[in-house]
Amino acid sequence: MENKNFVFGHKKPDTDSIASAISMANLQTNIGSYSESYRLGNINRETEYALKTFGVKQPELLEHVNENDNVIMVDSNEFTQSVEGIENANIKMIVDHHRLNLQTTNPVFCMAEPVGCTSTILYKLYKQNDITITPEMAGIMLSAIVSDTLLFKSPTCTDQDTFIAGKLSDIAGLDMYDYGYRLLKAGTNLDGYTAKEIINTDSKPFEKEGIKFVISQVNSADVDSVFEKQNELETAIENEILLNNLDCYVFMVTDILKASSKVIVLGNRRDVFEKAYNTKLCNNTAILEGVVSRKKQVLPKVLDAIN
Ligand code: MG
Ligand code: MG
Ligand code: MG
Repeated sequence: MENKNFVFGHKKPDTDSIASAISMANLQTNIGSYSESYRLGNINRETEYALKTFGVKQPELLEHVNENDNVIMVDSNEFTQSVEGIENANIKMIVDHHRLNLQTTNPVFCMAEPVGCTSTILYKLYKQNDITITPEMAGIMLSAIVSDTLLFKSPTCTDQDTFIAGKLSDIAGLDMYDYGYRLLKAGTNLDGYTAKEIINTDSKPFEKEGIKFVISQVNSADVDSVFEKQNELETAIENEILLNNLDCYVFMVTDILKASSKVIVLGNRRDVFEKAYNTKLCNNTAILEGVVSRKKQVLPKVLDAIN
């Protein structure tokens, strides 16, 4: 028997990274290529809510892959956001909706589309392969689309995401707006998390021209209450900056109702952020009206401002 495929998303997994790994492993196994899904870190409360709702078990934690292990990357193709050992693994497939930023040694099946969610692409792969999507799979794939598109409000959301979410909600047998709101709400619960845990819920490292920065994001239905902890959050961010030698750290608190974000920006190259948004930080913060997408509305601007 062919060796199994390790299927996983990115570190600091979000709902799409977990749901896509599970549904891709299920699809591949169904078409005869035995696959197992993994997570590259603890799941967040939103993902926990989705898995519980649809009775799906969370994947096992994966800390490293060995040389020549067969790997399928979903929802990510950046080695810096992936598992230890990825450089020497055999990457068989990539299904993603982020910028491409890797080089492979072998030919690779790559399905990358500029849609709002990896699960949207996976829905099409299920159809192509004529594999039935069960209500459980549909439920977690729908959860991923709701999560990544902020209930269809993000500028990353395409007509395909909304259309396919509709199809998936029919299979799962629920109203996508009603369920979607409950899912996002579950994800905003930060009770009992330390400042360090909050800033590390969904943070991604990037580098350009030797400038190392992190963009981290949490959703909230009550942004002011998150900023009551601004001092603790800043201390946690300063620690990350020291620990990882960062030049800039952007922490976005995204309001799921207003679809805008308030940020804390620290680091000795905060000027990059100020240049990107042509703004002056006030008390280390700024309000970004209409900004909800790290990928589409923050990262490109920051990269452009580094020159
Ligand atoms: Mg993701
Ligand atoms: Mg995604
Ligand atoms: Mg995300």
